[in-house]
Amino acid sequence: MKKTYGKLTALTLGLLLSNTAFSQSVLIKNIQTLITGQPTADRKAEVLHNQDIFIEDGKIKAIGSNLNSGAADKVIDATGKIVQPGFVDTHDHLWQVTIRGCGNNQELFDWLSDCDIVQQDITHEEGFAAVRLATYDLINTGITTVMDWNHSFSDGQAYGGLEALQQSGLRYVFGFYPNNNTDLETNAYKIKAMVDEDPLGSFMICGHPANLLKNSMADLVQLSRKMDVPLNFHYAESALDKKHEQTKTMLETEVFSRPLILNHVIHVDDDEIKNMVDSKARISHNPLSNMRLATGIMPLEKLSNAGLVIGLGLDGGTNDSADFFSLMKTTVGLQRALHESALIYPNYNEVVLLATSEGAKVLGLNQLTGTLEKGKAADLIIIDPRSTNMAVNFDEVAQIPMNATPANVELVMVQGKILKEDGKIIYTNESLDELIAKNKMTVDRFKSRTIKNKVKELDVFTP
Ligand SMILES: [Zn+2]
Repeated sequence: MKKTYGKLTALTLGLLLSNTAFSQSVLIKNIQTLITGQPTADRKAEVLHNQDIFIEDGKIKAIGSNLNSGAADKVIDATGKIVQPGFVDTHDHLWQVTIRGCGNNQELFDWLSDCDIVQQDITHEEGFAAVRLATYDLINTGITTVMDWNHSFSDGQAYGGLEALQQSGLRYVFGFYPNNNTDLETNAYKIKAMVDEDPLGSFMICGHPANLLKNSMADLVQLSRKMDVPLNFHYAESALDKKHEQTKTMLETEVFSRPLILNHVIHVDDDEIKNMVDSKARISHNPLSNMRLATGIMPLEKLSNAGLVIGLGLDGGTNDSADFFSLMKTTVGLQRALHESALIYPNYNEVVLLATSEGAKVLGLNQLTGTLEKGKAADLIIIDPRSTNMAVNFDEVAQIPMNATPANVELVMVQGKILKEDGKIIYTNESLDELIAKNKMTVDRFKSRTIKNKVKELDVFTP
């Protein structure tokens, strides 16, 4: 059957998939290793053993030993398994599944030119299909919350992407970047209204700091203040960003006066770190993307010691993978290689908190998600370590980033609803082959076009 991805379809499916009406109670029993997402006094991941979790109305109602299974609609046996908070992806561009592998020997500006900003005619239908495919991949790896920095090249891309997020079952932050949009305010309010109707959604205004964009940055700051929503900016990703006078322009347009999430944050000096600390900016670290585009390595320990909250993000097509285990392993490995020290922050235990509870703080969602405790949303994953790649354990927490892959993620739950079970993604009445074929048509169209107007390093761009 031919599928349609129009707004009526989206609305209908959205209602069918609504998580507000979801009330199945679940008991997860006999959990061998429960990682709560809370830090211990020495900031390691807290671990409990032989626990049960009772979930009702999408929330964690109880955690303890030998909870009564009689009250649950569904009982899951987690004997020998690990339960932890779902991963929080603090920075992504989900439409970029359509440019995976593009420009794979290029650095940032050439990649932007050849792969990213030339795709400005992406349609509503293409935007929907791309994000749809991306969200399945996020679920597969165990992500339960994603911040989708939507480039909003067109209205179709913005609305198509949002509809796909709303049908995904994931908790999400929709980041609206009014790129070529002539009616910034109308669209921002309209999109925010759609997000506000969804209990899993929240909204931010996105932007890119550069001296040539000063006027539009001022508009974004004003709108963020008027709408009372945070700003979400790329910042100090490349050494070449210095030429765009990012910091000076952000100070002049009062960006730091707003609740602020900054992505990448590699090429910063002590004064710039002080600006971020003073404004309580929160940081998304994107090491796989930074490696891919050869932009540098974040001074992670220095930023953390300054008191900044830091989470992890995939950053879309520049990463080419949604594998959060690779992201965690890379986070640790890059810092060790840079500092030639195995004692540098974070270690393989601490990085699990960066990927979960710290990420929830970055997105301002830590009252809802990021830790497993009574009253929080049931956003969790079950990992089965009884596999050739994870067994046998010396260290049950550290070996999650060290050894696990998405294939070890047996179950994914968001707000009490199961999105992956027995190692299989639960698709919603659609053919994966059909979805892939639809995205292949988009990719073929992108590949066939002639690249024109290459971006020069001082040109305005949107990574
Ligand atoms: Zn990005």
